[in-house]
Formats: sequence, structure tokens, C-alpha cells
Amino acid sequence: MAQAPLQPARGTHDLIGAEFRRHHHVIEVARRIAALYGFEEWATPIFEDTRVFARGLGDTSDVVSKEMYSFADRGGESITLRPENTAGVCRALVSNGLTQSNLPRKVFYAGPMFRYERPQKGRYRQFHQIGIEVLGAAEPLADAEVIACGWHIQQELGIDEGTVLEINTLGDAASREAYRAALIAYFAAHRDALSEDSRTRLEKNPLRILDSKDPKDKALVAGAPTIHDHLTAEAAGFYAAVKRHLDAFEVPFRENPRIVRGLDYYSHTAFEFVTDRLGAQGTVMGGGRYNGLVEEMGGPPTPSVGWAAGVERLSLLLEAAGLTPAAPRPVAIIPIGEAAEPAAIDVLQSLRDYGVVAEIAYRGNMKRRLERANRIGAGAAVILGEEELAAGMAVVRNLDAGSQERVALPDLLRALAETGVVESAAQAMLNSILEEELGDDPEDTDADTDEDGDEGRA
Ligand code: ATP
Ligand code: MG
Repeated sequence: MAQAPLQPARGTHDLIGAEFRRHHHVIEVARRIAALYGFEEWATPIFEDTRVFARGLGDTSDVVSKEMYSFADRGGESITLRPENTAGVCRALVSNGLTQSNLPRKVFYAGPMFRYERPQKGRYRQFHQIGIEVLGAAEPLADAEVIACGWHIQQELGIDEGTVLEINTLGDAASREAYRAALIAYFAAHRDALSEDSRTRLEKNPLRILDSKDPKDKALVAGAPTIHDHLTAEAAGFYAAVKRHLDAFEVPFRENPRIVRGLDYYSHTAFEFVTDRLGAQGTVMGGGRYNGLVEEMGGPPTPSVGWAAGVERLSLLLEAAGLTPAAPRPVAIIPIGEAAEPAAIDVLQSLRDYGVVAEIAYRGNMKRRLERANRIGAGAAVILGEEELAAGMAVVRNLDAGSQERVALPDLLRALAETGVVESAAQAMLNSILEEELGDDPEDTDADTDEDGDEGRA
């Protein structure tokens, strides 16, 4: 008897076709822009010792108290699938002995995260984040640059019109102590109107209540005191400097005194990029300054700042804006008869060597092969018949226009580029022209400067 088809586990999803292309595009753009800002990419393990998160994120955070995928492995160690990557990056800084030299370290990452949440649009149990961290910089310029990089990525993706930066400060320890007392006084007076979770938070960490998604809490939060009446002069000065630098970076923002962020480790700057285009899941990128996290991992005090963004949410914004990247259009190589197959394979591989996306069907007559070419979205076909091959020629057919021409094999790339429907062929043609015009192999020049540089340093 046939087995019932299996489904993906609740809260997980497959990335296929256009969805994969959007997802990949988000990560590639982020990676490229982060590199322009001097961030190097790190990859830390997907699971860690549970203590990395329990210590790092604080046990009053929603993530640690309700959302972690933690289990004992076969050896009895408590393991957790990472719910976020900042704690892992800080752990890696310490474990790899990088806390003393070359600070600040600027780190970019991308990868899957896991949280046991109620799945809905834009909220999954396995989701993906991109993120950056500047480790070991106490200056407000670092906060502003981190935010500017996030904004640049959104601009480059073309979704910046739909998002707004909201910023706040959580002050320094002294500011938060004073604010904490004011919040306890306020919420204690409204204790009965609080959700059960928030009554617990009132004891452990009243700031958490400001981040509650419970409608009852939200109503109370609207009237709560803000931290701005409790900032020390130093904290207020830091916040003013961040805003000044944001102006210099030309990043627009609005202030929102309610932003506290979901994790326990923040101080000073806290920010979110929010959108009204994703229903309830309105935050696409969030972050701030965290000054105690590296110490929690056993390292020295290392003031740091960073953000993380949800790849699925950015990808939904791309889709809504009609910005799904197109799939590349291949060239279909069509041999007529078995005798033409070796020559067809030769053409196929030389096009691929040039960087042209090219495909060959594994069987079928010309009609079948043309049908297949249309199904895979090919822009052009190269038809290789016995007669053409004997004359060193091929037929290039523009599959959109239906027009075709006979060309000599050495002219194939140019003819494909001229169809205007195969982007990779146009790009390859451009590259070959550039190479010819530049003459010298540019790699040689690189090697020369490297050598000189090394000698200079030695
Ligand atoms: P939210 O308030 O939406 O639960 P959060 O404060 O828990 O978000 P962070 O821990 O700051 O989120 O993570 C940064 C970003 O990662 C979020 O702004 C969001 O874009 C994305 N993200 C967080 N949780 C999920 C999830 N379960 N599914 C998809 N994306 C998520
Ligand atoms: Mg959350």
C-alpha cells in the first residue's frame, strides 16, 4: 500500500523556485553591502551548549523562557538549536581567543535560526537571519554605522520605501535602575490589569512588559513612563551623538520610546526597522548595543552593537514590491541526430566556460527538444545539424522572436548576445570585450602589488 505523503514539520518551509531566488538575493545583497562596510563573514554552529543562550539572552526573555529548542543529546549534554546568532558570535570571539587583538571585529553572518513559536505569515519555527555585529567598540559612531549598513541593504534591495527606522535608548545601568523603579511603581499600581506573564515580569524584569504582545499589557504600556525622564547626562549625550551621526549618514529615523527589544542584553541604543506591509509581523530588522554579552561568555568587557534581520520577512517585502529576481534564461543546445552529440557537448561546455547558462536535453527529436527549451524558459537555442557542423556553422534561434540565423561557430557568443534574450550571453560578451581592451591579465597586476606590499611589511 502506498504511504501517505509526508509534510514539512510545523513551522518549517521549503524554499523552491521564486521563493528561493528571493531568499538567496536577500542574503547575497546583504553579504555584498556588509563587505563594503568592512564586515567579515563568520559561520558559527547551528547548535550550542544551552548555557550560551541561557546566560547570554537572559532567562526572562521570551526566547529563553518559551521558545528554545533544547534537548539532551545522546551523551546527556544539554544542547540548543540557536534561536539567534549574537550569543554564538560572542561565544566564538571568546573561544577563539580574539578578545584582545584587532578590535573592533566586524562580523556578518547568515543562516537558519530556530524558535518554538506559533507559526503564521512571517513567523516560523525554522527561519533565517542575516546580521552584523561590531565587537569591541564603545563609540556612538559604531551604532550609527551599524544602522546605516542595515539601511543601505534595504535600499539596495529596493524595499526601503516600505520600512521606517525607529530608535530609542535604554540608557546605561544607572539610567535603567532609576527607570526600573519608576516602571515597578507604575505597573504595580495596575497589577490586576496585567497579563499573567507580565505579573511575573514585574518581579523579574519590568522592562520586558514594554515588549509584551498581549493586548491587555499593550493598553497599559501606552501610559507607562518612558526612560527619557531617567537618563543620566552621559546616556543622554550618547543617544544625542548616535542621532547626530545618523543624520550624517543620511539615515532617516523616528524616535519611539517604547522600543526595548526582546532580549535581555541591550543597553543604550535600541532600534527596529518596522513596516506596515506584513500584518502583525511588523519588525524586519532589530538590534542595538549590548555591553555585557562577551563577559557572559567568559571574556573581558567588550562593548558591542549589532542587528539581525529576518530573511523571510525581507523576502516577503521583495515579493510585495514585485522585485522577485528573474530566473536566468538558458541557451538550449540542440543536436540533430546522435552523430551531432559530441560537437553539441563541446559547444555546451565552451559556453559554460564563458559563463553562459546552457542546457542540453538528454533525449528527443528537434520538436521535443524545442518544446523542452520553451518549458525551461530558454531565451535562445543553438541547433547543430550534420550539414551545419560540416561547414563549421550553427543555427542560433531567438525563441522569443522566432527568428534565426546561421552563424560560424567562432561567432556563436556574439550571435547569442545579439539576440538580447540571454542575459548571461550578453554579460559574457561584455567580459570578453573588456578582457581584449584591457589587454593585460588584471590578476597579474594584483599579484605584483601583493608582493610589493609583503616586502614593504617584512
Ligand atoms: P518579534 O517581535 O517579531 O517576535 P523578535 O524581537 O523576537 O521579533 P529578534 O530576536 O530581534 O526578533 O530577531 C530579529 C529579526 O528576526 C526580527 O525582526 C524578525 O525579522 C526575525 N524573526 C524573529 N523571529 C522570527 C520568526 N519566528 N520567524 C521569522 N522571522 C523571525
Ligand atoms: Mg520573538
